[in-house]
Amino acid sequence: MIYHFDMKLTDRQKLILKGKICPYCGDETEYVDSSCIYVVSYGMIYLCWPCNAYCGVHAGTNKALGRVANCELRAWKKAAHKSFDKIWKKKYLKRSLAYKWLSIRLGIPKEYTHIGMFSVETCKKVIELSKKFTKEKQYAN
Ligand SMILES: [Zn+2]
Repeated sequence: MIYHFDMKLTDRQKLILKGKICPYCGDETEYVDSSCIYVVSYGMIYLCWPCNAYCGVHAGTNKALGRVANCELRAWKKAAHKSFDKIWKKKYLKRSLAYKWLSIRLGIPKEYTHIGMFSVETCKKVIELSKKFTKEKQYAN
């Protein structure tokens, strides 16, 4: 799922990015407490039972962090965050600027530049871009 700046999302795509429709089976997700899948509760999640796909919400809201993700995508999202977050954690760029940089490099509008919204393919690209950026910065001084 790579969006271009001039591309408009359909209502269905928007619902997917809001966690309300499962991109794997196309059915509606359920809004449930995460204790359904974890031993302890980490708050509410959007969940598709048959696909074992889910995503969390922004603290104190019912707003999904992105699309629901299956096991494979969850692992890639973690890896993408690990590589990308280094850019602002090591202060190579301010956090907001790092997201702007990512948005431009991926060709995705800023409002959709959230790792929680990305596919496996896009996560892989984030890792590649972030690693390259960090490496260049390391040898820049
Ligand atoms: Zn599903």
